[in-house]
Amino acid sequence: MRRISVFGATGSIGESTFDLLMRQGGPSAYRTVALTGGRNVARLAVQARALRAEIAVTAHDECLPLLREALAGSGIEAAAGPAALIEAADRPADWIMSAIVGAAGLAPGFRALRHGTTLALANKESLVTAGPLLMAEAARHDARILPVDSEHSAIFQSLLGEDLSAVETVTITASGGAFRDWPLDRLAGATVAQASTHPNWAMGQRITIDSASMFNKALEVIETREYFGISPDQIRVLVHPESLVHALVGFRDGGMIAHMGMPDMRHAIGYALNWPDRARLPVARLDLATAGSLNFHNPDPVRYPALDLARQVMDIRGLAGAAFNAAKESALDAFVAGRIGFIAMASVVEATLTQLSAGSALGNPATSLDNVFQMDAEARRIAEGIMAERKV
Ligand code: NAD
Ligand code: MG
Repeated sequence: MRRISVFGATGSIGESTFDLLMRQGGPSAYRTVALTGGRNVARLAVQARALRAEIAVTAHDECLPLLREALAGSGIEAAAGPAALIEAADRPADWIMSAIVGAAGLAPGFRALRHGTTLALANKESLVTAGPLLMAEAARHDARILPVDSEHSAIFQSLLGEDLSAVETVTITASGGAFRDWPLDRLAGATVAQASTHPNWAMGQRITIDSASMFNKALEVIETREYFGISPDQIRVLVHPESLVHALVGFRDGGMIAHMGMPDMRHAIGYALNWPDRARLPVARLDLATAGSLNFHNPDPVRYPALDLARQVMDIRGLAGAAFNAAKESALDAFVAGRIGFIAMASVVEATLTQLSAGSALGNPATSLDNVFQMDAEARRIAEGIMAERKV
């Protein structure tokens, strides 16, 4: 029986993964090793019982008593904290879903690779912050990373049987987020609630806000570069309000292969779960006659400054991705807490990168995860300082 673990099981991707696992036979089809979550331990316990997991882990120590209580009598182990997450990743599994949000997802996924596992990677921050390290670790242990971000699953599928050297361009699409059609002068006053609604996809709050600011697409451009080794000048972004075409790969003979489907993450998750097979998945089928028309346009750099920042990050490479992501997470925390406005997020990230560029470390290649975590901490400290001094 295939052994599986899900990191971030109680989130948006985690719940969709759980849904597919249950539909595909649940505990009679999979041996569940570990499920992890955050404060929602009641839900984590329900999932752990349903899949008869060996262990359930909450990220928060103070949630452990409640998790224990919720698992009482089940025989399922309970644990808490970052060290317990690593310990759970150290339990061999054949397929692991990496769906913790933010840089916190890097260490468990990285650790899992040493067991030669297949890592279904939703946590895009892993590739943004430590792409070369992660890919090298996978190669060293003969482990496989399968992309779960919809655009990257789409590129992966469009490249099946193709020679990478024949690729001219890779285009990922963006819905444009909650404020796509807002007049620019209203963006400064955008609220957290307004930024937390997505026109097409149902996702966690953080990635939804990142979609409105296009920081999500900025991360995905870097993710494309790191996962596929495509050079930055070959990577394009198109705003596509319908979110039905997820990515397009252009080849040197002028042909282009597009991947299409309804915006439902269970496609990309199910693809990674069943790869290399294609299983019957419970996603709605795209009817192009009903869709009627598909629209595309280039993103406006004034509306979406995050995309230019991603270009800068790719030019510097090294530890710049870790700094970029950490500054973005700090700015996002501050926006969600009401400490800064919506458009200030990009200013905070830009100012953090500028300040870090004055030193030399930003372009240094990461030689270990510790390098990445140090840069992450440094960038958060600088971003907090910038916000405290109200420089933005
Ligand atoms: P979410 O906020 O809905 O869920 C995050 C999960 O991680 C939860 O289980 C939460 O408890 C856990 N978590 C949060 N902080 C943690 C920490 N510090 N330590 C350990 N666990 C922690 O997020 P999501 O929308 O499911 O996104 C998960 C990842 O997948 C992100 O990296 C996101 O960018 C990526 N992704 C999501 C979607 C989507 O449709 N939601 C699409 C593509 C990629
Ligand atoms: Mg995506």
